[in-house]
Amino acid sequence: MYDILSQDVMYLKGVGPHRAKVLNKELGISSLKDLLYYFPHKYIDRSRIYRINELQEGMATVQVVARIKLFNEEGRGRKRRLEALCDDGTGVVKLVWFGGVTYIRRHLQLDRPYLIFGKPSVFNHEINIVQPEMTSVTQTADLQSYAKLRPVYSITEPMRSVGLTSNVMEQIIGAALSRLGNGQIAETLPPYLITRHHLMGLDEALHVIHSPENMQRLPEAQRRLKFEELFYVQLDIVHYAAQRSRRYKGFVFSRIGDKFLGFYHHNLPFELTGAQKRVIREIRHDLGSGIQMNRLLQGDVGSGKTIVATMTMLIALDNGYQACLLAPTEILAEQHYATVSRLLHDLGIRVELLTGAIQGKRRQHIIEGIADGGVHIIIGTHAILYDAVVFRNLGLAVIDEQHRFGVEQRAKLWLKNDNPPHVLVMTATPIPRTLAMTVYGDLSVSVIDELPPGRKAIETRHVYENSTEQLVNLVRHELEEGRQAYFVYPLIKESEKSDLKDLEAGFKRVCELFPEMRVGKMHGKMKDEEKNAIMDRFKRGELQILVSTTVIEVGVDVPNASVMVIENANRFGLAQLHQLRGRVGRGAKQSYCLLVTGYKLSDTSRKRLEIMTDSTDGFEIAEEDLKLRGPGDLEGTQQSGIVFDLKLANVIRDSDLLEEAREAATQVVKSDPDKNLPQNQVLWAQLAQRRKTNVNWSEIS
Ligand code: ADP
Ligand code: MG
Repeated sequence: MYDILSQDVMYLKGVGPHRAKVLNKELGISSLKDLLYYFPHKYIDRSRIYRINELQEGMATVQVVARIKLFNEEGRGRKRRLEALCDDGTGVVKLVWFGGVTYIRRHLQLDRPYLIFGKPSVFNHEINIVQPEMTSVTQTADLQSYAKLRPVYSITEPMRSVGLTSNVMEQIIGAALSRLGNGQIAETLPPYLITRHHLMGLDEALHVIHSPENMQRLPEAQRRLKFEELFYVQLDIVHYAAQRSRRYKGFVFSRIGDKFLGFYHHNLPFELTGAQKRVIREIRHDLGSGIQMNRLLQGDVGSGKTIVATMTMLIALDNGYQACLLAPTEILAEQHYATVSRLLHDLGIRVELLTGAIQGKRRQHIIEGIADGGVHIIIGTHAILYDAVVFRNLGLAVIDEQHRFGVEQRAKLWLKNDNPPHVLVMTATPIPRTLAMTVYGDLSVSVIDELPPGRKAIETRHVYENSTEQLVNLVRHELEEGRQAYFVYPLIKESEKSDLKDLEAGFKRVCELFPEMRVGKMHGKMKDEEKNAIMDRFKRGELQILVSTTVIEVGVDVPNASVMVIENANRFGLAQLHQLRGRVGRGAKQSYCLLVTGYKLSDTSRKRLEIMTDSTDGFEIAEEDLKLRGPGDLEGTQQSGIVFDLKLANVIRDSDLLEEAREAATQVVKSDPDKNLPQNQVLWAQLAQRRKTNVNWSEIS
């Protein structure tokens, strides 16, 4: 069947080859279908027509219908302007245009009725409308089609330069809709889903969204189109997740053996929290199920994810497999290596570290151990992912601070075995459930929602940069008690010289303020060995203050540190501030975080600082962050390499609809695993079509 929707937009009235090219380049629109799926981003109510004698200064945009009685050109050159006096029988108003005078004058005619749209202002005691939009309305039908609820389309500069304004887009889309007529657009969802979820038909929804006859039907149309978007994303995810679990059997870790139990009875340094125990149970259940585990472990900074990772790795070992732990930076890898080796001492487990810094014979030795199974646990950076590293039998991969790992890198992990290892991804960035569902698809989520006992909430204060005394007193007090402090300077790009200058100046200042203390300095441009050496000295307590850029952001664990000073705190995002603050408060003593800024602050900055001083709960902060920024910006979604193709739906605002779509998709996959139910043919065809243009993000996790 010839699909009318695949027609080229070029042949539509008002388009032509030139504009068609621009539409394609700017918005990727080439067919009628593409055009109809370019939705308005808002609507303005233009149903009311004012009389000129009602116009007043201070009104928002208004429209009148009037005839031009007189033109007048004033000024010369760049000061040139066109004025027109208009009359509607109740009064006279002056219209004024600056720029494009010749063009505008040529297109306007005396004594013809125009619909005039603009904002009234007062100049020289007269009401003016500056740069009004003019629409000729010689027939009553014209007025009916313009004076109503009108869609507003986003327009780019190149579009504007070829006359593709929002109004013109409206006309072109209108032309497309009237060429199609009613009922010509084929439904993309099967009738049973439309009925079950009380959805408006596609044909009607597309008509309404582009020209809502009245406000009442608009939400229904939007709901239908949002559902469609969300449903197909979910169907994609759920379908491929199901396929994958049919294709790959997970390694079955049925045993709890010597290593796990030996650790539990002899080496466990503290009582696990209830949340840690629960999460370990959830993981054990997955590992024994025969299905490959893909689990996201969320836990606020300091909630104790490392011990959970360690115990999970022991289960792999007890079942005869190797395990690896991947960290995003060398510092973190080394820290994990130190922690895990310490935790596992005397259990006969060989733990090795593999990073880019480990070279030559040592590297060769470790790589051989990984290949012959002599190494049980390997901890490292992405160096582990190099092709030269071959495992004897990798059963589990733990990835720390996942958002620094791209999809590509995770895919490499999959290829380390014929059968992919179980995967545990740990993150301190709380992701609302609905978002996790969209981004990670079939990843199950465990949450450590309880901090180890005895932790005191970090006391957070906002201080202005010239009230140094308060800051110095507090820091000195803590240092004299034998504790340690961080001073952090923002570094937006590691390459920016000015930022490094900030750090140097800061270092000098800190040395001057605390002449009796030992101060170290660390930044991303330093060699890894240098960074490690500094970090070691700080950990051992040889340095009392560490002045640093955000290289210390993730995962650094020095329980004796009790003060975090964040300079230019207004330049950090909320998620980052929270991460940084999490470097203190890791022991049982009271810790402090001082957010230093100048007096001049934007409203958003002020709000962010307020949230930080009010709350230490990562989830709460993440939610506030979403409110301030919107989900497009959410940390983690950008780096994860996943492209959202949602035009209308918003995973936060429309979370109920998302769940509904998710359920519908799950049911379809369950009841039609081999894609052969006749009523679902339309839906599988749609999925195949949509997937051609989308990334398959469910294949990799
Ligand atoms: P994160 O979740 O941020 O990675 P860590 O695993 O580094 O947190 O743990 C933070 C600190 O809390 C570490 O010093 C760790 O030894 C300690 N810790 C973890 N679990 C417990 C517990 N159940 N009781 C006491 N201390 C704990
Ligand atoms: Mg950690």
